[in-house]
Amino acid sequence: MFGEHILYSIAFAIIIGSIYEYVFNVTLPVWIIAACAWLPDVDYILQTITSNFYYVTHFILYHGDFHTIFGLIGLSCIISYMLNKYKNIKFMTSFFCVSIGFIIHMFCDYFVYDMVFHPLYPLDCVIWGCPLIDEFGSFYGIGEFSIITIGLIFIVFALTIKIVLDNIPKLFLNKFYEIAPS
Ligand SMILES: [Zn+2]
Repeated sequence: MFGEHILYSIAFAIIIGSIYEYVFNVTLPVWIIAACAWLPDVDYILQTITSNFYYVTHFILYHGDFHTIFGLIGLSCIISYMLNKYKNIKFMTSFFCVSIGFIIHMFCDYFVYDMVFHPLYPLDCVIWGCPLIDEFGSFYGIGEFSIITIGLIFIVFALTIKIVLDNIPKLFLNKFYEIAPS
């Protein structure tokens, strides 16, 4: 699933970035969205560490523990604080991008895996998951073949939206200048 997360987040980053730029005329640092595509899976790394060093930590953090609303808020705050401090990006701007990357990851997990995460934990322990696609084959270890294919089509779709939006203002302005009295 690692390759798929990157593909889908890049596609969403392109779409969100071009819409944002079109509406607000400001460039959004959308690379953050793609860079945070794996962020919730930090719990997977922590699971390996805490289970191997249980004699030190005395607890195990399981994969899925950060796939929650509190994981979203907590990790987004930490990453946004670091981006603000070291990269001078506005806190709320990076918080927006990090959370979008996080939410896209959650949706990818939601539609591929069954019973993976409980997003409202510990408020509510209900487990979400609606696997639409079975992971049956791997594409050179990057990810499941059909998910990769849909992801690539999605990227082409995102690029089309970007090209259209990049050109709409020009068309609109040309029309405006045509009807404007000289
Ligand atoms: Zn995940």
